[in-house]
Amino acid sequence: MSSFQDFGLSRRVQQAVDGMGFEEPSPIQAACIPLVLDGRDVIGQAQTGTGKTAAFGIPIVEMVAPEARVQALVLTPTRELAIQVAGEFRKIGKFKRVRTLPIYGGQSIGHQIRALQQGVHVVIGTPGRVLDHIRRGTLRFNDLKMVVLDEADEMLDMGFIEDIETILQETPADRQTMLFSATFTPEIRRLALRYMRNPEHVTVNRGEITVPLTDQVFYKVLERNKLESLCRVIDSEEVQLGIIFCRTKRGVDELVEALLSRGYLVDGLHGDLSQAQRDRVMRKFRNNEIELLVATDVAARGLDVENVTHVVNYDIPQDPESYVHRIGRTGRAGKRGLAITLVTPREFKLLKQIERETKTQIVGREVPSLEDVAERQAEIWRNRLVETIQSGGLGHYRAILGNIVDDYDPIDIACAALKLASAGELEAEQKDEYDFGDTGATPGMVRFFVNIGRTAHIGPADLVRAISEEAGVPGQVVGKIDIFDRFTFVEIEEESAPFVYEALRKSRINGARVNMEPAKPRSRVR
Ligand code: ADP
Ligand code: MG
Repeated sequence: MSSFQDFGLSRRVQQAVDGMGFEEPSPIQAACIPLVLDGRDVIGQAQTGTGKTAAFGIPIVEMVAPEARVQALVLTPTRELAIQVAGEFRKIGKFKRVRTLPIYGGQSIGHQIRALQQGVHVVIGTPGRVLDHIRRGTLRFNDLKMVVLDEADEMLDMGFIEDIETILQETPADRQTMLFSATFTPEIRRLALRYMRNPEHVTVNRGEITVPLTDQVFYKVLERNKLESLCRVIDSEEVQLGIIFCRTKRGVDELVEALLSRGYLVDGLHGDLSQAQRDRVMRKFRNNEIELLVATDVAARGLDVENVTHVVNYDIPQDPESYVHRIGRTGRAGKRGLAITLVTPREFKLLKQIERETKTQIVGREVPSLEDVAERQAEIWRNRLVETIQSGGLGHYRAILGNIVDDYDPIDIACAALKLASAGELEAEQKDEYDFGDTGATPGMVRFFVNIGRTAHIGPADLVRAISEEAGVPGQVVGKIDIFDRFTFVEIEEESAPFVYEALRKSRINGARVNMEPAKPRSRVR
């Protein structure tokens, strides 16, 4: 097992990585970081969610010189990714004071020019906008040493090839070039042959792995409902002894806090604990003083406890091997255990990969519905309000209210107080991470525009099959389908829509490249 210490990072970068709560490098990081530090051109191929950003982010931050000149350029397919990658760089470069700037279309170019003039070390941008700055002379590459093509397959799918080539031709020939991608296509190979020097091709999609006898299920969840969904799942199971896995140390601490405050008997285990603390937690776990142990992969390794009835992947593991490691903690001594994985829309492909490589079936279970979850949260708050009223001692607050009661509806005042007290927790219920807006769909459905139609020889049956296979949803969630020559409109039930969207927006149906977007309301055909 490798550790971040093995890379010989400088103190300030090491400290930043520690602060991010990463306990050990993911496989793609373990393989790529030393190569990049060594100055090699690298092709890193691994599924989404495997930590590719830090695989180039850490060594790049390590290698930039103090002068605030653009030394590294990262190209990403979308504005969201540019912002996300810039955020990760900011965390890694926090103590080294590495300045990063995301540049993307849609944001004021004047602002970007001013920011560039103030001096930055790393620019993260979408190809179109980067090219724009090159042409204006506001982005210069005299000091550029490293270029990263991030999510290269997506960039090519989006038709950025010409822009990318033009940009690469503008960069110094002796640059170090890195390419990261979930898939490796002939187009990528061609790009690599032309623009990379003897690249090392690292891939972490490994072969067969044997899995212990454990029943395996997954639940689809949205990021914002994860905690509530977890509680629902736990409550619906008879957990005698469970291990819950989180990706980071900080994640462990936060989840332990959250579960404790909900009254679960729980404790946490991760690499920052002393041996004495660790022993204490383990003793509690063995003596059934706690029913749930929240842990990172590293902390749980070699954990030998009998009678673990449930393993829960609160964060999906980053590769099939650690999945197998994790679920191997249950179902021991001839007893069958249950492994539960929570999966968000973006992680669904990773789950499918794990299923493929471990050659097992992970069965989808009915998610506690969003309404159930939202209603449960509302109920908790109502109970808290009633308890607070009943326990009295409100006189002081009555005085604070003063005479606003004369000017405002008491219900409005109560709602405002609840909004403040719940600090966005209830608010989030209305604001969806996947808010597709008005798509002109039938109520309860989301309408999507798909960029292929009759000329690509697809029919309704192909579409329904693709949707149900790729997104792992039953065909019934598909509603009205309108196929035209070059495009198609399809309606999907709201709850499945985020999963269908993430699974299909960059995929293939009958060999044709597919893109999927929420439809515009006025594109409705009557
Ligand atoms: P990819 O680019 O491969 O899709 P990301 O770089 O976006 O993946 O990483 C996915 C998530 O995993 C992020 O939340 C990131 O912070 C987290 N992560 C990355 N590396 C590690 C690590 N070594 N340990 C724990 N979490 C990590
Ligand atoms: Mg990425």
